[in-house]
Amino acid sequence: VFPGTVDAAGRRATLGVMGGGQLGRMFVHAAQRLGYFTAVLDPDAQSPAGLVSHHHVRTGYDDPAGLAQLTELCQAITTEFENVPAQALQTLAQTRPVAPGAAMVGIAQDRIEEKAHFAACADISGVTCAPYAVIETPGQLQAVLDERADLLPGILKTARLGYDGKGQVRVRTAEELAAAWAELGSAACVLEKMLPLSAECSVLVARGWDGQVVSFAPQRNVHVAGILAVTHAYEGALPPVLADRAREAAVAVAQHLGYVGVLCVEFFVVDDGTEHGGLVVNEMAPRPHNSGHYTIDACDASQFDLQVHAMAGLPLPQPRQHSAAIMLNLLGDVWFDADGQQRQPDWQTVLSLPGAHLHLYGKVQARVGRKMGHLNITGLDVATVKNVARRAADVLG
Ligand code: ADP
Ligand code: MG
Repeated sequence: VFPGTVDAAGRRATLGVMGGGQLGRMFVHAAQRLGYFTAVLDPDAQSPAGLVSHHHVRTGYDDPAGLAQLTELCQAITTEFENVPAQALQTLAQTRPVAPGAAMVGIAQDRIEEKAHFAACADISGVTCAPYAVIETPGQLQAVLDERADLLPGILKTARLGYDGKGQVRVRTAEELAAAWAELGSAACVLEKMLPLSAECSVLVARGWDGQVVSFAPQRNVHVAGILAVTHAYEGALPPVLADRAREAAVAVAQHLGYVGVLCVEFFVVDDGTEHGGLVVNEMAPRPHNSGHYTIDACDASQFDLQVHAMAGLPLPQPRQHSAAIMLNLLGDVWFDADGQQRQPDWQTVLSLPGAHLHLYGKVQARVGRKMGHLNITGLDVATVKNVARRAADVLG
């Protein structure tokens, strides 16, 4: 569906997105720049994407009337968060192209299925995930307690609905593991061995309906308390051998799935005695990703542009990064001073920094840990970008 077209009934070419968060907002911006109308389905009247979209369908994600309204408005539909009910995507797909499809999102929603997929394509991707065991029943817990001491210390993660480090408990002993499973409500979980990470990185891939694949160079990510804090995206941010391997692995994962849309694959870099370290696949997100926000200002096509192209069946140009970039996430924490008093960040100083691009998501209420926006620092010279990023981080304290 080409942008700017009007059908016989007078309807404008419109793209839809399930979910109204910041990822949906940036998708809407990209789609509108190209000339599309947009529709967002999200129950929240103040959702960041709903606020900037031509249409906002304000219903639950599985409301039949809302889904029907969305298909009525749109020629193609995507999603901005992986916890949209797969059933809803299936319903939409009966009458409209939906990318990524329900099956893909279903796999990414569930760590157990996700790990099984990574294992299934290990031969072509060349990477495996961390050693793990599935714990869905008291019997499986007992078996792990009895036989899998090799997974301790480890991290117990709920199979579903975890994000930003939520739904995870670090465990050192068998007692802690048993207590943690109870604490997580005896839900389906995976216990993953704790690995000595030397770094983390991710790769964004876009694949079209016709199987064409393009990708961005891998970026290095720094997490604080389980939440992405900083992304480094420039030559030398990762050892070249690792970067090449990660990129090939991510493309292989997308190909093996027959994926359509933008996919982010996250990796651990582990100390394995080699100079560059070893690569372990962590998880994937069936959508653009926080670690790809730098592409908006540092590349000639952003991850959101590629999402638009992929879902709408437009050609997928290989993106080119023209600037070195560092992305700083702006969590709600920045809106509070040391005494817990609410304040406005020092935008005067931040906006005067060379190469600084501020992105705020339109969320009214700042809360500790809540993603409010991000700051991209770009430049031609890596040393300068690092310097400016350091100054920005100081100001934002
Ligand atoms: P989320 O869905 O919250 O992003 P992740 O599985 O990516 O969950 O875990 C969040 C962070 O916790 C990772 O980015 C990494 O820093 C740390 N982490 C997760 N699993 C492991 C592991 N097996 N070994 C070491 N660190 C881990
Ligand atoms: Mg993660």
